[in-house]
Amino acid sequence: MLDKVVIANRGEIALRILRACHALGIRTVAVHSTVDRNLKHVAMADESVCIGPAPSSESYLNMASIIAAAEVTDAQAIHPGYGFLSENADFAERVEQSGFVFIGPRPDTIRLMGDKVEAIRAMKAAGVPCVPGSGGPLGEDAATNIKLAREIGYPVIIKAAGGGGGRGMRVVHTEAHLNAAIQTTRSEAKAAFGNDMVYMEKFLENPRHVEIQVLADGQGNAIHLGERDCSMQRRHQKVVEEAPAPGLTPEQRAEIGRVCVEACIRIGYRGAGTFEFLYENGRFYFIEMNTRIQVEHPVTEMITGIDLVTEQLRIAAGEKLRLRQEDVVLNGHAIECRINAEDPDTFMPCPGLIQHFHAPGGPGVRVDSHIYEGYRVPPNYDSMIGKLIVHGPTREIAVARMRVALSEMVVDGIKTNIPLQQRIMSDAGFQQGGMNIHYLEKRLKEQKEKALSIV
Ligand code: ADP
Repeated sequence: MLDKVVIANRGEIALRILRACHALGIRTVAVHSTVDRNLKHVAMADESVCIGPAPSSESYLNMASIIAAAEVTDAQAIHPGYGFLSENADFAERVEQSGFVFIGPRPDTIRLMGDKVEAIRAMKAAGVPCVPGSGGPLGEDAATNIKLAREIGYPVIIKAAGGGGGRGMRVVHTEAHLNAAIQTTRSEAKAAFGNDMVYMEKFLENPRHVEIQVLADGQGNAIHLGERDCSMQRRHQKVVEEAPAPGLTPEQRAEIGRVCVEACIRIGYRGAGTFEFLYENGRFYFIEMNTRIQVEHPVTEMITGIDLVTEQLRIAAGEKLRLRQEDVVLNGHAIECRINAEDPDTFMPCPGLIQHFHAPGGPGVRVDSHIYEGYRVPPNYDSMIGKLIVHGPTREIAVARMRVALSEMVVDGIKTNIPLQQRIMSDAGFQQGGMNIHYLEKRLKEQKEKALSIV
C-alpha cells in the first residue's frame, strides 16, 4: 500500500480523500493556499504545506509548488481530486517524472480524453455509441461546413475540442447562422482554452444526462458500477444527481456498461473514470470521458457499497482489481444534492462566515462537507460547500429522506441553495423522475415569471 499521499485539492473532496487514506492507514499531506489554513482537512492531515496565495493560479494550479510539497514531505503519491489539475496531462506527467505516483490514469490517456475530437474518435473505434457529427475538426471552408450540417440535420451544436465546464458550445438552428457561429465559437475557444479547434454534433433536443462509472486497474481488468442520472442541471452544471437512472432496465445497463468496460480495456485505462452520455429515446450517445473522481461519485458508492476513493488508492498502489463484475450489486436508490454558498434565487455566490451549522442525520443520510461553525467560506473558489447524499430502498423513500434531511440542515450566516433543493425535491416532475436536461431551467423560468406576475 501507499505510505503517504499529498492531497492536491481543497474543500469537501480533500476531506473525502483524507478520510479514505486514514482508513487505509495512509498518512496525508494537505497542501493549501493562504486563505485555506482553516480548512477542516488541513487540521486533520498528518502534515500541511502552504503552497501559495489565494488565487488558484498561484496555489492549487501551481504544479511546481505541489510537487515541491511532495518532495519536502517525502510523500509517494499525489491525489488531484476533481477540478484544478485533475485532468491536466502535463501535471500528471510532471508528477511521474518527479518520481511520484499520480493517482489517476496515465498522462497519455488524460491527454487523449482532454481533446474531445480525439476522444470521440477513440471511443467510436472502441464501439462506444457517439452523437452523429463531424467526426473530426471543422475546416475553414464555409460550403463544406454547410453541407456537413445539412447531412447531420439541424439543430447542430458547435463545440470546442478543448472545452470543459459547460463552456465553449453554441447551438445553431438554421443555416443562415452556421458559419458565424463556427467563427465565434472558434475565437472564444482560442481565448478560453488556447485551442481554436471546433467540431460539430447533432444537437439532441430533449436528452437526459446519464453517465457510467468505471474502475480499471490498467492491468487488463475493468468493471462498471452502473450509471448516474445527472439531468437536473442549470447552465450545464449539475445540481442534483441520482443512481440508478429512473426507468433504465437491467439489460440496458448491462449493455452500455459492457461497452464502456471493453473501451477501458482497449485503451488500457487505469483508475476511476466516467463515460458521460446523452440519453434520448432509449439510446446512449457518448459526449466525453472524465478521467478523475467526480463530485457525484457518492451516489454510486451508496448503491454499490464500494468505496471509489479507496479503490483509486489501491489501483495507484499497483494492486489488481479485486472486484469482478458480478460483485457489483445495485441496492436501492441514492440522491445527491449539491449545497452551494449562493443566493437560491439569483444564484449569486455568497461567501462569508458560517455562524451556525447543523448537519442532518438519520438512516441513509451522508454529509460530505468541510464546513463547520465559525468557518469562513472564501470568495476565491467554487461556491460548493458540501453535498448531502441520501440512500433508501426505493427512489420514493430516498426523495422523502432527502426532503427531511434538507429541512434539518442549518447553515446560518450565508445564503445557500438549500431552499432551491427543497423546491426540487417537492416538484412533481422530479418526483416522477426521468426528466431531461432542460427541465430544471424550464421550471426556474416558469417560477420567475409567476413571481413577477404576482408582483
Ligand atoms: P463539458 O466538458 O463542457 O461539460 P460536454 O460535452 O460534457 O461539455 O457537454 C456539457 C453539456 O452540454 C451536456 O451535459 C449537455 O447538457 C450539453 N450538450 C453537449 N453536447 C450536446 C448535444 N450534442 N446535444 C444536446 N446537448 C448537448
